[in-house]
Amino acid sequence: MNIVLLGPPGAGKGTQAKKISEYYSLPHISTGDILRENISNNTALGLKAKSYMSIGELVPDELLITIIRERLSRSDCSKGFLLDGYPRTVPQADALQMILTEAEKKLDVVLNIDVSDEELIKRMSGRRVCGTCGASYHLVFNPPKKDMICDKCGGKLLQREDDKPEAIRNRLMVYKKQTQPLIEYYAKKGILRTVDGGKDIQQIFEDIKKILENYD
Ligand code: ADP
Ligand code: AMP
Repeated sequence: MNIVLLGPPGAGKGTQAKKISEYYSLPHISTGDILRENISNNTALGLKAKSYMSIGELVPDELLITIIRERLSRSDCSKGFLLDGYPRTVPQADALQMILTEAEKKLDVVLNIDVSDEELIKRMSGRRVCGTCGASYHLVFNPPKKDMICDKCGGKLLQREDDKPEAIRNRLMVYKKQTQPLIEYYAKKGILRTVDGGKDIQQIFEDIKKILENYD
């Protein structure tokens, strides 16, 4: 199955992607994680991306398209993939279509996680991520067993730079302007399925599994 997870920042894409990728054995490709890893490793790409990410702007399309072209060409994507955070603009979606057509593949389904702005702000403000393994928690909705310590690897939990109030506001504006048009883009292609992301984590996953049964 070739899946795209679409939705505003803080909708729960990463949270659901972890579950989907384990359950269906699909590689989870998060462009946000790839960029953050490049920033930690001080690569040339990380240096270019950092100034955009810290203020909640999108990193330029050409950089993302290069990342995705390379990542999708790896052998672990031969039986399917799960994209989280890509595409975020119409040019990125057009590029994805071209990359897949060249490889004689296609997208099966675009899962759109729908959440109100009010809830998104609560989710992003309370998000804490493990500095070691990247696992995502929420201070109230999904707290770790030990305060600020990752359940999975014992790493320290941190707040993302772009989960601070100013960047959150900007990310929601950027989403509405640049990413939201993709809902219509994929609806027109007949592959969009919208999920109510206001429910609890497990219930959303059950809803997603029901949709994906049709593509297995
Ligand atoms: P995204 O990848 O879309 O930016 P995340 O998966 O990181 O979003 O989720 C954002 C925050 O909201 C995290 O702190 C996560 O633990 C929390 N969260 C995710 N799904 C839900 C949910 N259904 N209900 C409440 N909190 C959630
Ligand atoms: P995320 O982890 O998906 O919330 O992404 C964090 C940040 O990384 C975004 O706010 C952007 O600055 C950058 N980013 C991630 N994916 C993309 C993308 N597809 N296009 C442009 N910027 C991206």
